[in-house]
Amino acid sequence: MDTITLLQPDDWHAHLRDGEALRRTVPDLAKQFHRAICMPNLVPPVKTVEEAIAYRQRILAHVPNGIDFDPRMVLYFTDHTPAEEVVKIKQSDAVNAIKLYPAGATTNSENGVSDIRKVYPVIEQLEEHQVPLLLHGEVTHSHVDIFDREKRYLDEVLVPLLRQFPQLKIVLEHITTADAANFVLEQGRNVAATITPQHLLFNRNHMLVGGIKPHFYCLPILKRQTHQTTLLEVATSGNPKFFLGTDSAPHAQSKKEQACGCAGCYSAPNAIELYAQAFEQMGKLDKLEGFASHFGADFYGLARNTKTITLVRQSIQVPAQLDYLDNDPIIPLYAGQTLNWSLQ
Ligand SMILES: [Zn+2]
Repeated sequence: MDTITLLQPDDWHAHLRDGEALRRTVPDLAKQFHRAICMPNLVPPVKTVEEAIAYRQRILAHVPNGIDFDPRMVLYFTDHTPAEEVVKIKQSDAVNAIKLYPAGATTNSENGVSDIRKVYPVIEQLEEHQVPLLLHGEVTHSHVDIFDREKRYLDEVLVPLLRQFPQLKIVLEHITTADAANFVLEQGRNVAATITPQHLLFNRNHMLVGGIKPHFYCLPILKRQTHQTTLLEVATSGNPKFFLGTDSAPHAQSKKEQACGCAGCYSAPNAIELYAQAFEQMGKLDKLEGFASHFGADFYGLARNTKTITLVRQSIQVPAQLDYLDNDPIIPLYAGQTLNWSLQ
């Protein structure tokens, strides 16, 4: 087998940033994916349907000619999001979900929700209108160890949340632990998860053994190998609860390689090839299309794509760096390493 043809995939979790960054991020994503869920953690965050539509226009302005790219927008959930905004999301043809960052959890999350119980009236509306709630699933208390934050979130936040709102549609974003994978498996069809390429291909040893590698630093942080193994198993299992979400999160080289480096891996340029690499390691390339191209659209209630892409068995080297901001390049995930499959 030297080629794989897939229905065109979608990326259900991506950070495109804004302004000058869009020159890099939009073409990188749009050359593979038809749709992407565009995360709203800009400065200031995208909090209303109107702001989301304006951001979508700024993204579309950077789509290369001849490429059909459909940004799907998400609102940023704050302590002050009005319950009425949920109906506006439901009626909008550009916005598909709302993203909840616990305040302080990751890049630009200081406007996030301080206590989820405070926003239960909005969540009630999400459940009623079946608008997906996208969760960054980590507690943020300073006394909780960074490697335990996802597990604690399941116990302390998600279990009570689903008890209160059993029909709520939830995507647990970028899961990193066997605990989260098993939690999702135990829930009804209304609970799903995205998985990033870095959490399938790497574990914390890659980041910390033999010198610290800041380009593997992302949040939620890479975990131990046993968790990586479980993520590989569920991603390649053909279970529709798990689908593609790169969490591609660009930060310029100077923001990553410093005493206090930013969290995020830039996987967009070779995202589908990175996933192919992981699926091939498991001998499960036949399961890639469901994960990348079917299950996310089905969960969101959107039509599956109709065009296809083809991957060829031809090794390519990921560039050591790419142009990003003026005089400040970006180092992509897998920089300098060889991928077995390449996008035709
Ligand atoms: Zn993210």
